[in-house]
Amino acid sequence: ILSCRGLRKVFGPNVVLDGLDLEVAEHEVVALIGASGSGKSTLLRCVNLLEEIDDGTIHLDGQHITDPRVNQDKVRQRIGIVFQSYNLFPHMTVLDNITLAPVRVHKRPAKQAAAQAREWLARVGLADKAGEYPDRLSGGQQQRVAIVRALVNSPRLLLLDEVTSALDPELVGEVLTMIRDLKGEGMTMVLATHEMGFARQVADRVCFIDGGRVLEQGPPDQLFGDPAEPRTRQFLARII
Ligand code: ATP
Ligand code: MG
Repeated sequence: ILSCRGLRKVFGPNVVLDGLDLEVAEHEVVALIGASGSGKSTLLRCVNLLEEIDDGTIHLDGQHITDPRVNQDKVRQRIGIVFQSYNLFPHMTVLDNITLAPVRVHKRPAKQAAAQAREWLARVGLADKAGEYPDRLSGGQQQRVAIVRALVNSPRLLLLDEVTSALDPELVGEVLTMIRDLKGEGMTMVLATHEMGFARQVADRVCFIDGGRVLEQGPPDQLFGDPAEPRTRQFLARII
C-alpha cells in the first residue's frame, strides 16, 4: 500500500533522509525507532506531503504521490496523521474539531461528517464528549479525539508520531488500547515511537532508522531480541 524508494531529504547541510526505502503492506503495522533526530518525524511528514522530498518517490496504492502534478489535498485525505501534541483547536468543540477538515477542505456534507464523527466517538468511548471543549478532556481523551479526527476521512493509512509521549503514564494505556483496536480492524499504520514496549506490543515489524536509512528491520521479537547490526544493539542497549 505504501512504497518509499530512495527518499532523500536535506535541511541545509543536514542530510536527514539519505536514500531511505520503506515498504508497508496493507493491514501492516510498522514501528519506526531510532535516535532523536534520526528522521522519523521527517519521514512521516514526507509521506503525508507536509515536507517536500529532495529525491526519491513515494507511492500510495500504486499512485505516485510525490509527482508534482498530483492533487496533494486529495492524497492527504487518504493519509491520516496524528502528532505528539494533539493540536486540537481550543475554541472549538470536539465534534467541530473532528468535522472541520472534512467539511471545509474536502467539501463533505456537514451532516454526514458529523454522523460519522459521532459514530467514531462512540466506538472509542467518547460519545458523551462531542459537545465538550478540548480543555475539559484529559490528555488521553484529547489524543483519542485527535486520532478520531484523523480517521473520519476513512484513510488508507494512518501515521502516528509519538502519540503517547506527551501523556501521563496512567493515560498512555487508553491510547494504546485504541491503537490496538484499530490494528484489529485492519488499519494500516506507521508509527514513530520511543517506547519499545509499545512497538513490541503493536507492531508487526520494527524499522531501526539510522544514518537516514532503515538500517535494520524485522519482527519485534527478532529486532529487540536478536538484532543483527551492532548499531541497533548499541541503540537498544542505551534505551532499554
Ligand atoms: P525525535 O525522536 O526527537 O522525534 P526524529 O527522529 O523524529 O527525532 P526529526 O524530527 O525527523 O527526527 O528530525 C531529523 C533532523 O531534521 C533533525 O536534525 C532536525 O533538527 C532536522 N529538522 C527537522 N525539521 C526541520 C526543519 N523544518 N528545518 C530544519 N531542520 C529540521
Ligand atoms: Mg520525531
